Amino acid sequence: MKTRTYKATGEEISLLGLGCMRLPLAEPGKPAIDEEKAMELVDIAYKGGINYYDTAWFYHERTSESFMGRALSRYPRDSFKLATKMPVSILEKAEDVPAIFAKQLENLQTDHFDFYLCHALNASNFEKMESMGVYEFLKQKKDEGIIKQLGFSFHDSADVLRTICDAHEWDFAQIQLNYLDWEMQDSAGQYKVLEEHGIPVIIMEPVRGGTLADLGEEANAVLKAAHPDWSIASWALRYAASLPAVMTVLSGMSNNDQLLDNLGTFESFEPLSEADQAVLAEALAIFRRNTFVPCTSCRYCSECPQSIDIPTVFKRYNSYMLHKNAEIFKKNLEKLDEGCRPADCIGCGLCESMCPQHIAIPAKMQEIAAL
Ligand code: SF4
Ligand code: SF4
Repeated sequence: MKTRTYKATGEEISLLGLGCMRLPLAEPGKPAIDEEKAMELVDIAYKGGINYYDTAWFYHERTSESFMGRALSRYPRDSFKLATKMPVSILEKAEDVPAIFAKQLENLQTDHFDFYLCHALNASNFEKMESMGVYEFLKQKKDEGIIKQLGFSFHDSADVLRTICDAHEWDFAQIQLNYLDWEMQDSAGQYKVLEEHGIPVIIMEPVRGGTLADLGEEANAVLKAAHPDWSIASWALRYAASLPAVMTVLSGMSNNDQLLDNLGTFESFEPLSEADQAVLAEALAIFRRNTFVPCTSCRYCSECPQSIDIPTVFKRYNSYMLHKNAEIFKKNLEKLDEGCRPADCIGCGLCESMCPQHIAIPAKMQEIAAL
């Protein structure tokens, strides 16, 4: 496993980290973790040299932390780096902060967090955390040694990122970055801000929730012609890891095949060459010709009053846009429970307000229903 040196401590961090928001599921489309399969996945990751584990209060409807606590308690505490996050968006009062923090230590069966993040900061969440003294509380925990490194994850513009970076002393930051978002969501601008501030970067969504694991026949063929032995997903991981300010690239792996493929990518990782970058640009141009919904399957929109499984709908729609098989698309939509299909959307907008990708979900539901 390739590692990068975390400059502040001189420690080696695996260049591939395990994101714990897409662990194996007991039942497709439901959040419950398949404990047996997920334990095996963590074991393979650990034995494969991954030493960075990133979970959060929200993941798997609040069960990821306690699962990871059980999984990682089987290993020496100083043999891995543990990261979790303060769920700023659900805080109602300042007292929630210490209560949640204490519960997280309990969930994760630990007395300290190696990396601790303010979760999903944007302009409004940052304002909220400032008004509740969240940074001051966490800084206190850092001074006490309970937090080793303090940072934040981020979903907003480069300008907002600059404001947050200037406001406090941060040890690291986590941004969404991949070759599609480099321009589309200005990952380039965000990366530059962090680089200017000398803040180490952790990458999330390098494969964009699986979207970049299959670019469609034509674009896949371009990549395969250049490196027949590289998986399509590995191009996305290589792209993210090729950036020098990146400390680790998180991937939310859902099964052993994905994990083994990713471990293979990072076993003998070399940054993409100029020729490889040109090949990738060509494949991306082909991929972009297809319209698709930029959903990352984060499931922040899971409170839909109509119980519409929004990321699954978008996954099936994107697959249709790539392969244009109308029959399969129709059958896949009919597999969704009656009353929970795109046509059942009441346009309440709850999902859209939660979506970090700013997808116009109700409008898209209408469009898909019509299609
Ligand atoms: S707008 Fe539609 S899809 Fe979104 S939460 Fe409301 S009913 Fe569900
Ligand atoms: S629609 Fe938005 S909030 Fe819902 S899973 Fe996709 S990216 Fe996440």
